[in-house]
Amino acid sequence: MKEQIYTIPVTETVDRINENGECTCLLCSLYKKLEDDELNLILGASMMEPDIRIKTNKEGFCRKHFDMMLTMKNKLGLALMLQSHIDEVRNTVFPKEGLFSPKNKCDASLKPLEEHTKSCYICGKVDFHLGKMAETIVYLWEHEEEFAKKFSKMPYFCVEHYRLLLQTGVYKLPKNKQNDFYTAVSSIQKAYINSLYDDVSWFCKKFDYRFEDEPWGNSKDSCERAVKFLS
Ligand SMILES: [Zn+2]
Ligand SMILES: [Zn+2]
Repeated sequence: MKEQIYTIPVTETVDRINENGECTCLLCSLYKKLEDDELNLILGASMMEPDIRIKTNKEGFCRKHFDMMLTMKNKLGLALMLQSHIDEVRNTVFPKEGLFSPKNKCDASLKPLEEHTKSCYICGKVDFHLGKMAETIVYLWEHEEEFAKKFSKMPYFCVEHYRLLLQTGVYKLPKNKQNDFYTAVSSIQKAYINSLYDDVSWFCKKFDYRFEDEPWGNSKDSCERAVKFLS
């Protein structure tokens, strides 16, 4: 049996999506929960923990996660974290002799800058746990018939998480089960992308005066759903 810390949120989220008839990607839902938990931890319980501070100082945050932290209540927590992070950036991203020293070369500055711009503490943590959850999904699909049945009722997986699921299937499943897994996931995708195409097409048609009075059907939120699916 897989670790409980991943099994419980996975099965609970699958049940919730099915019971409420939510039109959402399972892994996007899990991602959102992991992200919220990490953000609350980072500005709450973990904020003053020295080993976490060392990591946030080094890894920093992406723009999206900084923006989310700016909207949260604990401004002092954020400021304290920024204070030590700025100090770290000052000492590592900018060359020791100082940014404007004539001895500095552009190319020598690039490596630390590249490292700085590509890492985010929250993205790193969330991606790690989401990877484990994808493994749990594949494990449960392989070993628990009841779960596989519920999984087959998922409305869709966004393209990014479809990739993650297939990739996880390839390295976690025995060869003889990979095709079945591919069929299970891709049939969900095929049905959804076809209905999405029809809905967006109908949305476009509604701008033609001849269809003006026709009902919107499922097309009203089709652009929003297409963006969620594709990105
Ligand atoms: Zn997704
Ligand atoms: Zn991030």
